[in-house]
Amino acid sequence: MTLDHVVVIGASLAGLRACESMRQEGFEGRITLVGGERELPYDRPPLSKKVLTGEWEPDRIRLRKPDEFASLGLDLRLGVRATSLHPDVQRLTLADGSELSYDGLVIATGASPRRLPGQPVLDGVVELRTMADSLALRDRIADGTARVVVIGAGFIGLEVAASARQKGCSVTVLEGASAPLVRGLGTEMGVAAASVQSRHGVDLRCGVQVVGIEGDGTRVTGVRLGSDEVVPCDVVVVGVGVAPATDWLADSGLSLRDGVVCDATLFTGMPGVYAAGDCARWPNGVFAGHDDAEMRVEHWTNAAEQGAMAGRNLVATARGEEATPYEAVPFFWSDQFESRIQFVGRVHGGDDVQVVAGALDGPFVALYGWEGRLRGVLGVSMPRLVMPFRALVAAKASWDDALNKARELTA
Ligand SMILES: Cc1cc2nc3c(=O)[nH]c(=O)nc-3n(C[C@H](O)[C@H](O)[C@H](O)COP(=O)(O)OP(=O)(O)OC[C@H]3O[C@@H](n4cnc5c(N)ncnc54)[C@H](O)[C@@H]3O)c2cc1C
Repeated sequence: MTLDHVVVIGASLAGLRACESMRQEGFEGRITLVGGERELPYDRPPLSKKVLTGEWEPDRIRLRKPDEFASLGLDLRLGVRATSLHPDVQRLTLADGSELSYDGLVIATGASPRRLPGQPVLDGVVELRTMADSLALRDRIADGTARVVVIGAGFIGLEVAASARQKGCSVTVLEGASAPLVRGLGTEMGVAAASVQSRHGVDLRCGVQVVGIEGDGTRVTGVRLGSDEVVPCDVVVVGVGVAPATDWLADSGLSLRDGVVCDATLFTGMPGVYAAGDCARWPNGVFAGHDDAEMRVEHWTNAAEQGAMAGRNLVATARGEEATPYEAVPFFWSDQFESRIQFVGRVHGGDDVQVVAGALDGPFVALYGWEGRLRGVLGVSMPRLVMPFRALVAAKASWDDALNKARELTA
């Protein structure tokens, strides 16, 4: 395959890493990087943390300095979205009506916040995904007088709750599930990991049903619960998860199933087309044989690593070399108040969970196992003890080997 022009759609973490890895692989042809936002690539994790509290200014979260970025020699198309893809003729259309032909394509369009059914358009009802979202919310909470309701006790919701509380706001978190962080950590560990919230005065209410967001016609005034109680507020942050940003691919013929379906090497099956980051679904060989081996991961490390791998595989296969499967143990972190939550691996549901260091009312480490195998490790404010287990999950270590390792590390 001749590779003269590569188009990367999505100018964020995965897209940037794809561009960098292609250059590192020696690709000297044209790379066009298309991004829906006007910003050069920036880091999203601080948007719910230090940017939101005002400790960091936006300049601090640029992923690359301007000269580093310039050295990649990219043809940049920022502030314009891709609207359709025609893989049969290797061409795509942008929202400004222009068309781009490509030999290689990396889809790195990430994810967009989900909305609540019937979510009203009212001043004060917001989501958090972009720098603009973060700066607008930061203005609303800056003087600490706003009454904030966060809908959804996932990681981003709880980080927003912590940041707003740190600014002095009164904060209520409303969660429909019986515990916070259930999807990420399971019930018992979710409760333990989120206990820092109530220690700092966040009113965390689980098992409540939100039936509506109310306003005076212009501004939000409260959130109505199934019990008919109305929680009064000035700001509602809707943090009910994200969906892969793949709408623009609906008629492309690519296989879409909660993400762009790829093979183990991130190849989509269409000539020259790879996907990476929050929008990509692929079979992760680390979990081969388990019923959840095909996955889509919404974490920083995954987007960075997959972006690099997609770029490398595109260039390598064009040279006639073998593509490398992307096999990795997912890893994420979350900062809430003084607490750092880290998780390596994957929660299955019905896992055996065992605390191997500390205790649930303070810093601790817990192992997650399934069918006699180590699948995940959770650490709350014990960073040194978490990362050594990433290699063990990758090596498909048995539960007994994991317990031995924990004894060794805590001896
Ligand atoms: C507030 C916040 C806090 C986070 N905190 C953490 C954390 O603590 N730890 C952690 O591990 N992860 C965290 N994450 C997740 C992490 O940031 C994401 O996994 C990562 O940004 C995914 O990178 P990506 O490049 O795949 O997608 P994105 O960063 O979502 O970027 C996709 C880009 O593509 C653009 N785009 C979308 N559609 C189109 C189109 N049709 N045409 C052109 N451009 C398009 C979008 O505008 C966007 O700029 C956080 C995310 C957020 C939002």
